[in-house]
Amino acid sequence: MISSAFVKLRNEFFAQPFGGLASGEARALVSARAWDPLLESRRAEAVRSRVGLVAGVLAVATPLWTVVEYIALRPELWQRLALARLLATFGFIGILAACMGANGARRATRAIGALFAIPALFYLDTALLLEHEPLVGFARAVADTHVFLPFLILAAISIFPLTLIECLLITVLVLAAKALTVLLSEYADGSALLGSFWLLLLVAGVSTLASVGQLASFIILIRQAVRDSLTGCFSRRSGEELLEVQFALSSRSRSPLSLAYVDIDFFKRVNDEHGHEAGDRVLVIAVEHMSGQLRAGDVLVRWGGEEFILIMPGIDREHAVRAMKRMRDLGFGVRPEGAPLTASIGVAERVADRAADWKALVDLADARMYEAKRRGRDRIVARTEPIDGN
Ligand code: GH3
Ligand code: MG
Ligand code: MG
Repeated sequence: MISSAFVKLRNEFFAQPFGGLASGEARALVSARAWDPLLESRRAEAVRSRVGLVAGVLAVATPLWTVVEYIALRPELWQRLALARLLATFGFIGILAACMGANGARRATRAIGALFAIPALFYLDTALLLEHEPLVGFARAVADTHVFLPFLILAAISIFPLTLIECLLITVLVLAAKALTVLLSEYADGSALLGSFWLLLLVAGVSTLASVGQLASFIILIRQAVRDSLTGCFSRRSGEELLEVQFALSSRSRSPLSLAYVDIDFFKRVNDEHGHEAGDRVLVIAVEHMSGQLRAGDVLVRWGGEEFILIMPGIDREHAVRAMKRMRDLGFGVRPEGAPLTASIGVAERVADRAADWKALVDLADARMYEAKRRGRDRIVARTEPIDGN
């Protein structure tokens, strides 16, 4: 009771400031754990390209700044700083190279982690070096750029569409670096630490808001691009993309991949007898019924007008048939005149049916769906004989 009220409050809290975000999507702003694969891969792509851009700029700017330090600082100092810059530059080049390779959510997370960790380590390494220097004028100004580094790192959060937890992790990393330098400093004092923490937290707060806001817009755009606007199912295009990914994953891991082709029976009659809008409502209700039966990992795609494909990764034929029987038993809703809405279902499975690619799997499920129609509709066909006849 309390937890559901909390969930509602949390969803409202996050959905309100980011207009257009469905309340169920607010959770995705906090953590990336329950993201659907398309959001994950598109966000990874956006993060990867931006990390690559920033790493490229830093790979050039970091060593170039040595010229300024060469002019402003005494030799031992600029040489020591140049060494740290060289190491950081290698790090940035490494990130740039990683970002030019294949896409992948984990790769993007690692790249962004490294992008923030390198300047934080650089700061940790160099901040204390400059502390004892009796610098004035231009040299002081050059040295002060190091003091501002933690602020710059935290401000950079706003470049990326990140979750609240990701922003917090970066903030903690930078605050830890700052705390360490203050604690290790000879002039360590509590009020100095408190003062800089306070300002750093303000910057982190503003960038986090910008970053999470960016993620919210990103989620809305992705939903509009990958979901069908009437039913909220995945659109055919994104369904094809998902099928390709799931087929490759299941081939690589030698795990089953089941697919159900669901075609509503005599749907045209709903339109003809009650109008197109009534037909639309029936479709939405049918999807609500089907969605209620999905397990985590299952994906429902609107393949055509009143045709749907249910992708079930990791599920073998027997379990897929059982799942579809359950779906059929619970029904797809009612027609406007009150009769139950039924569907004809064709099931195919990658391993059992030795499908060469995802298109062959879809064709097979489609052919079996037609076989179910031919045999009288409202049934499941998963092989040559009907599994469920009535
Ligand atoms: P069967 O049992 O053989 O599948 O017959 P059916 O009437 O369900 O199939 P048919 O392919 O003859 O007709 C499908 C109809 O679905 C035709 C089309 O007008 C309708 N349709 C397609 N998309 C939509 C939509 O978004 N909204 C509505 N209301 N109707 C749609
Ligand atoms: Mg049809
Ligand atoms: Mg139909």
